[in-house]
Amino acid sequence: KYNFYAGPSTLPFEVLKELEKDLVDYQGSGLSLVETSHRSKEYDEVHFSVINGIKSLLDVPDDYEVLLLGGGATLQFSMIPQNLLGDKSSVDFVVSGTWAKKALADAKLYAEANVLWDGKDGAYTSLPSPADLKPNAESAYLHITSNETINGVQWKDFPESDIPVVADMSSDILSRPLPVDRFGLIYAGAQKNLAPAGVTMVIIRKDMINRAPEKLGAYLKYKTHADKDSLYNTPPVFPIWAMSKVLKWIEGKGGLEGIQELNSRKASLLYGVIDNTDGFYNCPVDKDVRSHMNVVFTLKNEELQDEFLKGASQRDMLGLKGHRSVGGCRASIYNAMPLEGVQALADYMKEFAKKNG
Ligand code: PLP
Repeated sequence: KYNFYAGPSTLPFEVLKELEKDLVDYQGSGLSLVETSHRSKEYDEVHFSVINGIKSLLDVPDDYEVLLLGGGATLQFSMIPQNLLGDKSSVDFVVSGTWAKKALADAKLYAEANVLWDGKDGAYTSLPSPADLKPNAESAYLHITSNETINGVQWKDFPESDIPVVADMSSDILSRPLPVDRFGLIYAGAQKNLAPAGVTMVIIRKDMINRAPEKLGAYLKYKTHADKDSLYNTPPVFPIWAMSKVLKWIEGKGGLEGIQELNSRKASLLYGVIDNTDGFYNCPVDKDVRSHMNVVFTLKNEELQDEFLKGASQRDMLGLKGHRSVGGCRASIYNAMPLEGVQALADYMKEFAKKNG
């Protein structure tokens, strides 16, 4: 079956098979890795292979730290302002959709928030040009959301800014190469492109690690985790272990360049059908910022939507209903969605349009 759900996780089939094989008896040790001490040599190897694997795939410069935390991207919505404000009292935001709004709501609990751009009037179907953004010099950082999972908009280029840029990349991390040095902090819940839910990756520039106030719980301080290589407390062993396999899988696809090319081909297939069926389907998102991860679309005749979804599910294509807050349809095509799955959907969409158009 093809999994088009937006979450939590589409894992490469090869990775699932390997996990199944290793789960009961890890490399002949007689224990599962999820039972083995997280201070053991076996776990150490996996843990550091993930940190180093991320550094190598993303070409992370030496003045950045990669952290593996719990709490999902949602914990970062409040951990970031608590850690990064320092002596500043304001932050800048681009409000590009549902997830940016959530990050903003939490940031407002700790700081004044300047909204530099808000896509509300266009129902979150566009993005500002990065060059047009004018961050405030006295703000602690500028927050963006690189891919809006629900609205289907994705930044294709990123702002260059004198204040640190902080980006929520939960739904497109490792889908393309990234200029990490343009960011102060990148964060991503694992469950789209990295691993099963349970671990959150943070890439932070080292000079920003130590800005938290003294009176903040140990777990909430980035410094705590940086000082202990993300082994301050029990790490989420299973998703980190799965991630070690996903990173190898990405390398096998030609690294991030290879993955990006594959993702572009998948996205072009679907947008191609949407734009070439005489208005039978419509994608409301501006062409130059359409997401390569979450393809949102509607049917001109809304009454046909249920039949369309039912037919897709009968053909083993699951999870195509749009988010309840925006309606319509959404095909989530993360890294692990094979080209054949997208081809099957594109063929079905053409066939359905021909029959009902
Ligand atoms: N940010 C984005 C862009 C997301 O897509 C999600 C979840 O889908 C989140 C944040 C929340 O992540 P988590 O569930 O890991 O807290």
